[in-house]
Amino acid sequence: MLIVACIKQVPDTTQVQIDPVTNTLVREGIPFIMNPFDTHALEECLKLKDRFGCRVAAISMGPPNAEATMRKALSLGADEAILLSDRAFGGADTLATSKVLATAIAKLAEQDEIALVICGKQTIDGDTAQVGPGIATRLGYSQLTLVDRIEELDMQGRRIRVRRKLEGRHEIVEAPLPALLTVVREINRPRYAKVPMRLMAGTAEIQLWNNQILQLDATTIGLKGSPTWVSRIFSPERTTGEMLGDGINDPVGAAGLLVDKLLEKELLAL
Ligand SMILES: Cc1cc2nc3c(=O)[nH]c(=O)nc-3n(C[C@H](O)[C@H](O)[C@H](O)COP(=O)(O)OP(=O)(O)OC[C@H]3O[C@@H](n4cnc5c(N)ncnc54)[C@H](O)[C@@H]3O)c2cc1C
Repeated sequence: MLIVACIKQVPDTTQVQIDPVTNTLVREGIPFIMNPFDTHALEECLKLKDRFGCRVAAISMGPPNAEATMRKALSLGADEAILLSDRAFGGADTLATSKVLATAIAKLAEQDEIALVICGKQTIDGDTAQVGPGIATRLGYSQLTLVDRIEELDMQGRRIRVRRKLEGRHEIVEAPLPALLTVVREINRPRYAKVPMRLMAGTAEIQLWNNQILQLDATTIGLKGSPTWVSRIFSPERTTGEMLGDGINDPVGAAGLLVDKLLEKELLAL
């Protein structure tokens, strides 16, 4: 039984800037990290591996340097790492990205039965949250998004029950396997890689799959297969805040000024 973690390597957005001419992220010279939500996706796969003894495959579509993120996945406990990398995959929108990922997952399913595919809720660069549902739709898998807890997983009965974190409420849903989950941060606390595992991952094999292996029609992938275009990216203008007194040295005075302001704007009634 196989569980697949979808992992994207993303620029560390605390340091990213937008090119005002091309409206794209400036990726040069920026450190890359595993998409934070995907660290939780991988951790959930590893917890299921600990519990059920299934194999975990980490899969990513990205440039050759995404190999570093795949090594990290191996150091944390993934059994295999597959990097989908080809010039033909470049410039993909979410439609084309989900196509390549779904095709690769279907190929994995030829070798071993897949119980679950786990993705992050969204990435911190593209931010669309479309890729997980896109993969599930293409594969015909049950689709369970925003999961913050796996309530029950019955591998024999091939059913899963999860809790979804919605705004102000939770929802418990059940679905047949195979299923694709997208997970939120609250689902778990990712583990740290142990030193021997890090050393092992440094020389472990990363499988590189290009389009010769996936055999996808080049007009349906990468930029050619991407109907989306970005017309503009911009940071919303923020109005500057107003400092009320000295909150550090005089918190009582600052709180008094805040109450006065709220009363003045009729946001507070005595
Ligand atoms: C015209 C166009 C060209 C683009 N060109 C590029 C480009 O050259 N390079 C680039 O990085 N982005 C490019 N993008 C952005 C790209 O579409 C998205 O980064 C990508 O499709 C994933 O969408 P997202 O980041 O919103 O993922 P989301 O849908 O927010 O991700 C949800 C989850 O899906 C999984 N996932 C998403 N992407 C991947 C992946 N690549 N591998 C494995 N799992 C994944 C992860 O588990 C993730 O947590 C382009 C976009 C457009 C519109």
